[in-house]
Amino acid sequence: TVKNGTNANYVYYNENIRNRLREEKDVESRMLEALDRREFTVYYQPKVELKTGRVACAEALVRWKTKDGKIIVPDQFIPVFESKYMIDRLDRYVFEEVCRFQRKRMEEGGRVLPVSVNVSRLQFYDQNFVERYVEIRDKYQIPPELLEIEFTESIAIDNSALLLRIVKRLREAGFACSIDDFGKGYSSLSLLKSLPVDILKIDRFFFTSDDNPERDMAVVQGIIELVHKFHIRIVAEGVESPGQVEYLRKAGCDYVQGYVFYRPMPQEDYEKLIAERSPGV
Ligand code: C2E
Ligand code: MG
Ligand code: MG
Ligand code: MG
Repeated sequence: TVKNGTNANYVYYNENIRNRLREEKDVESRMLEALDRREFTVYYQPKVELKTGRVACAEALVRWKTKDGKIIVPDQFIPVFESKYMIDRLDRYVFEEVCRFQRKRMEEGGRVLPVSVNVSRLQFYDQNFVERYVEIRDKYQIPPELLEIEFTESIAIDNSALLLRIVKRLREAGFACSIDDFGKGYSSLSLLKSLPVDILKIDRFFFTSDDNPERDMAVVQGIIELVHKFHIRIVAEGVESPGQVEYLRKAGCDYVQGYVFYRPMPQEDYEKLIAERSPGV
């Protein structure tokens, strides 16, 4: 009976794997279909410059707008794209949408503000990653200063030599580079010593602990002081309260991106916002 039981389990297990593979194949083709059907759309979240109180730039954040009109946030599908090694297709799609938007703005002659895009660290393993981005930027003839690249610091854990090489090439190509989610997970201040980035985005993790806000803020202030010595600008991300904004202003933070000012919004809303004469807060 033990033997039978084992066999039964084995068959069951096999069936399970087969079903899973079928399901995954299904997910994969659904995602590729969605890309082809252009179901992914770009939202923009403004970043406010604390010195002037004005919207200075924005981050492009992808959304999946399904056929039935549902909006799905990235956490629900980015991991799938990454696990299937299809994330480069999604990232480039978003980047091209952003370039298209910037070109439109340039042709309309209004204010054109820099936009940052997120790139998955998996793309850093692609030999042609930088060239592909330059090619798309050239296709729409966007001045390099209107585009920024955000990537998470965790790549430094994977392979810091590779990271350094890529960031140098990106900057030589004219892209400003941001370290995203700084302080979440493994933070390495030593990273800043060697990595020539332009912007550091401090994760909202620092602003959400209720037990000791003074201490949170002391840490943030320390980071800002240190980072400014390297001529790196600071974005505080996920800021939700006016009290935090006040503190960040005093601590010398350069930009705030958070619900306290604006949520990520569809392109049309963002255009309306920056078309206003002086969109301040
Ligand atoms: P991220 O790059 O760190 O983007 C900031 C996230 O924080 C966004 O979530 C934004 O909506 C959210 N956020 C901003 N302000 C606040 C706030 O005050 N409170 C709270 N609770 N949240 C705030 P979102 O749009 O869901 O994106 C999640 C993550 O998905 C992004 O984190 C980024 O890592 C990834 N992602 C988004 N778009 C892309 C893309 O085109 N390519 C890749 N590879 N990843 C992307
Ligand atoms: Mg980001
Ligand atoms: Mg972030
Ligand atoms: Mg993130």
